This record gives sequence, structure tokens and C-alpha cells, in this order.
Amino acid sequence: MKILDLKTHVLSTPLDEEFAFSMGWVGRRGAMLVELVTDDGVTGWGEALCHGLQAPQVAATIVDTVLKPLVVGRDPFDVDVLWEHMYNRTRPFGQKGAVPNAISAVDIAVWDCLGRALGKPVHKLLGGAYRTDVQPYATGFYRLRNGRYPADAVAEAHRHLGRGFTAMKLKIGFGVEEDIAYVHAVRDAIGPAPKLMVDANHAYNVGAARRILKAIEPAHIHWFEEPISPEDIDGYRELKNLTDIYLACGENEFTKIGFRDWISRRAVDILQPDICSAGGFTECRKISALAQAWHLPIVPHVWASGIGLAASLQWIATLPPAPLALHPIEPMLEYDQSAHPFRQDLIHGAITMSGGRVRIPDGPGLGVEIDRDVIERYKVR
Ligand code: CA
Repeated sequence: MKILDLKTHVLSTPLDEEFAFSMGWVGRRGAMLVELVTDDGVTGWGEALCHGLQAPQVAATIVDTVLKPLVVGRDPFDVDVLWEHMYNRTRPFGQKGAVPNAISAVDIAVWDCLGRALGKPVHKLLGGAYRTDVQPYATGFYRLRNGRYPADAVAEAHRHLGRGFTAMKLKIGFGVEEDIAYVHAVRDAIGPAPKLMVDANHAYNVGAARRILKAIEPAHIHWFEEPISPEDIDGYRELKNLTDIYLACGENEFTKIGFRDWISRRAVDILQPDICSAGGFTECRKISALAQAWHLPIVPHVWASGIGLAASLQWIATLPPAPLALHPIEPMLEYDQSAHPFRQDLIHGAITMSGGRVRIPDGPGLGVEIDRDVIERYKVR
């Protein structure tokens, strides 16, 4: 089998109402999809992460101009060799950010293609599934222009609980005192049972993060995500041993090289690589092996369309509990509940929550089929 073509599809659409996180206002949702075509007639799909403030055209240009010439004509079964080839050729201008995003999309498309060629879900090709379904947690709680906080957040929390969620993550990073009052208000409103996480999207420095950490301890917070800049590993190490709240980070880190220091220096309690960003299946399973060797759990970052969601579920299926036990600490699925006009339509609504769980797709490849009409509707020309 040979790779005949790599096509990029840039999707972008304005939101009905823009929303804010600690870094800015998000007015559009986008996706950069890769369609891999082989001489056997098998097609594979991949996706690159587009952060809220990231234009999908950036990663698409990297695929079109740099990665496509490296992989066309090659055997997709040489997936590890292809990955290292892409990484090494882009090292001088890559390593972090949009280049690993683009490599991730190509790698996911290759694995989808292999699964479809063999009639097996990707998790079977990676060694099998530790689980057939996963607990989702709701990501949301973005701020609206005319929102009232914490009242709107309390209402949103009740909506998530009403739909069956038992875990959710609050967006913070809007000011130290405001965040502390906000977290307590939501916890007081929902009671002690739901698992509650907070995410500052690296809005703070160590001093400010320390004040928040100590002040929200009584609110029984499961993890504090990206309290400080992802460039400040020593800052994370300072914060980690001050509190029982787990420290989590990883959506802005890339490849086994990037994660090596976080893992070996024990800088956080929970790692959050994004398969659409950190390097695809090929690299993320190596990150997973490193994490396992240091007994560190992974709870992947997910902020994608249905393709990235399906890829994340395939990877989550393969994550070994660290450690394995009768009642192990299991990964969760970050299940984005913020506005996204085509997240589910793109895959015919194939990934849903039922009974508070999300099932791992078990069809060939990523286990979802693509609706090309949706691509045409949102495609940037
Ligand atoms: Ca986050």
C-alpha cells in the first residue's frame, strides 16, 4: 500500500455568540482536517488541534508545503519511520506548536487508514483496550459578554448534572479574588459529590496561583489545570507539593522530547497531552510509555471536532492505569460542551454520552464516518 495524496480541509465558522477564556475572546470554531488517500482506495482522516485563538490555515500550510512531499509515495505501515522523518525534517522550525499539530493530523490519518485497511479499530492495532467506555467530564463555563457570574455558572453546572455528567471543569483566570469566590460559589451550589476541576489557561504566576490553590482547597477541587505558564516547569514543581489538589498540565506541550522533562522531573500529578497536537498516535503512545514508567496518569486534553474526539477515545482506550489495580485510577474524557457548530455533525453524531459514560468506537480505524456535506458547508476556500 502506498500513500497517493494528502488533502487538507480547512473549516472555520463564526459562533453565534463569542465566548471568553482567560487568554481572550473566541469568535470562531475551526478545524484542520487531513484526508489521506492510498493506492488501495483506503482513505484515512486526521485532525490538528486548533486552539481557540489559532487559525486552522497555519497547520494546513505546513501539511501542504512541508509534510505532504515527505509522505506521498510511502507505505503507511511504516508509520513510525514516517513520524520520525516528519519530525526531523521540521526540527529547525518545528518542535512545538503548529508543526507538531500538523504532524499529529497526518499521523492520525495514517493510523485511521491502517485500521480501515485491516478492518480493526486503532486501539486494536495499538495493543488493545483497557476499557470499552470512559467517564466524560464537561468542559465549558466560558464567559459571555452579558453573562452574570457566578449565577450563570451555577446554572450551567446544573445543566451538566442534569444531562448525566458527574465531573466538570471550571474556567478560571479572571482575577485571584474573583476566581476564589467563583469556585466556592459553584461548589456550594452543586454540593460535595460532583468532581470539580479548575483551569486557568496559564493566566497566573507562581505567587498568584499559590494563593488560589490554598484558598480553594476547602472546595474539594480534583485538579488545578495550567495555573501558570507551560514554560515554567520549576514553577509547577514549586506549586505541586503545597497542596492536595492535583496539578495538571500538557495541552501546550509536544512530543516525547517535550514531555520528557515534565515526566522525569515529576512536575505535575496529571499529564494532559492532546493527540491532535502532541504528535498523534505514534508519539502519544511513547509519551504514555514514559508516563507509565514514572507512574503518572494521563487524562488527555481534547478540544476538537468529531475526528479528534474519536482519535482521543481510541487513545484513551489504550492508556494503562498507572498503576493497574482492582480499582485503578481511570482516565477521563475531556468532553467539550462549548459551542461548536460542526463537532458532532461531521461524524453523523456518532459519539454520545449514555448513562454518564462515553463508549469507545469499535469500528475500523477511528471508528467514525465523515459527512462530506459538513466539510463542504464549513470549508474555507
Ligand atoms: Ca485547558
